[in-house]
Amino acid sequence: MSLSRPLDRRFSICTPRNNALRQDMRRLRPPPPATGYARIRGDLEPQSVDVVVVGAGLIGLACAAPLAASGLRVVLVEQHASAGTETSSRNSGVIHAGLYYPPGSLKAECCVEGAHALYELCSRHGVSYRRTGKLIVATTSDEERVLTELLERGQLCGAQGIELLGGAELRRREPRVRATAALWSPNTGIIDPHELVRFYQNQCAEAGVTLAFRSQVTALQSTPTGWLVDVRSGDETLQLRSRYLINAAGLQGQQLAEAAGLDTRALGYELHYCRGEYFSLAPSLGALTRHLVYPVPQTAGLGIHVTFDLGGRYTAGPDANYVNAIDYRIDETARSAFARSLARYLPEITEAHLTPDYVGIRPKLQGPDDEFRDFVIREESKQGAPGFVNLLGIESPGLTASPSIAQRVTQLVVSGAV
Ligand SMILES: Cc1cc2nc3c(=O)[nH]c(=O)nc-3n(C[C@H](O)[C@H](O)[C@H](O)COP(=O)(O)OP(=O)(O)OC[C@H]3O[C@@H](n4cnc5c(N)ncnc54)[C@H](O)[C@@H]3O)c2cc1C
Repeated sequence: MSLSRPLDRRFSICTPRNNALRQDMRRLRPPPPATGYARIRGDLEPQSVDVVVVGAGLIGLACAAPLAASGLRVVLVEQHASAGTETSSRNSGVIHAGLYYPPGSLKAECCVEGAHALYELCSRHGVSYRRTGKLIVATTSDEERVLTELLERGQLCGAQGIELLGGAELRRREPRVRATAALWSPNTGIIDPHELVRFYQNQCAEAGVTLAFRSQVTALQSTPTGWLVDVRSGDETLQLRSRYLINAAGLQGQQLAEAAGLDTRALGYELHYCRGEYFSLAPSLGALTRHLVYPVPQTAGLGIHVTFDLGGRYTAGPDANYVNAIDYRIDETARSAFARSLARYLPEITEAHLTPDYVGIRPKLQGPDDEFRDFVIREESKQGAPGFVNLLGIESPGLTASPSIAQRVTQLVVSGAV
């Protein structure tokens, strides 16, 4: 089946191994111009590989490297000219400790495992990070009750070293924050998401992953020997035959699942886009906080929090607004609502301190009126799509969880459970 909204991009391939693949692919006949898609024809012999990973965000990159390192021939297909240009570079860059999610959920387990693995990976391979610690602050007695629930939940999930702090201790640690109590998480930290993308991409190159940029997967067909995958680049459509297909397409994950013939509505795989704006904070505020400071979480997001990057630049965000389309233009009118939210716990902040920065969009399975929804990490044999592995709804804490998701996907494929 074809994807409903194909993009028109040029094809480029970046490693010597890829050149060989490209030459092989070029031997195929050009696709019929009427549709722009190659037809599956008996006289064409598609290039055979073991795994096609769709999407070179943090998740696709993290999965591709260990799959290739285990001896599989892996092609990673990305529609943009470089890796990590969508959600993977439009987030808070926080290594979460695993406080927020129901114990036993994939979000909780992958977050705790992923944080542990990320810190180890950073120190072993020299990826910059800082274990800053984080405070979730309460300003009312209702919010204090939420902190107690978060403490219990975090402890059940295995978040390390978390504890409740009273107002006096909070003021000692963060003199500029006004709140009555806080939950302290010492294991929360920050990382540069772009550096993590580069690290994973290098891992892919070292493991022998073929990276195809400016290449979009436009159609899929299930056959008894695996998936026939149409990869379009500009006017050219090439075909791959692959036993496994990993859907790491982020915001376009639902469309790809539909192209594999899955009834996404019936399976509860509909993605809801939820925008989050970020504003940077005026340098005149100085070193505003020593730690990351969050309000108690909201229904759709973690609340407008104050973070800083490895260069000491402070940012506030994200808010959470459900939208129908992907649009990364910032809504400056959010400024006053941001100032009001922040002033609840940092009273010195006014609209004048806020400069529009960037927007990220969450691929949420949870709709506006829904309860908690977990990550989907699932091989779809039971749905008649053997070898198709869905990674859907990988919103926060997806960056933190990336090593753990990669490990699960590798086990799934390598163990032959598929
Ligand atoms: C506002 C916000 C804040 C966040 N903050 C944090 C945080 O602090 N800590 C944390 O742990 N997590 C955070 N996250 C979550 C984290 O950013 C994501 O979970 C993670 O980046 C998801 O990566 P991905 O690879 O799944 O998606 P993406 O980065 O979106 O990558 C998907 C890729 O697939 C490609 N693609 C799609 N369709 C096709 C196709 N048909 N053919 C070829 N390529 C295709 C796209 O071009 C894209 O590059 C945040 C997310 C948001 C939105």
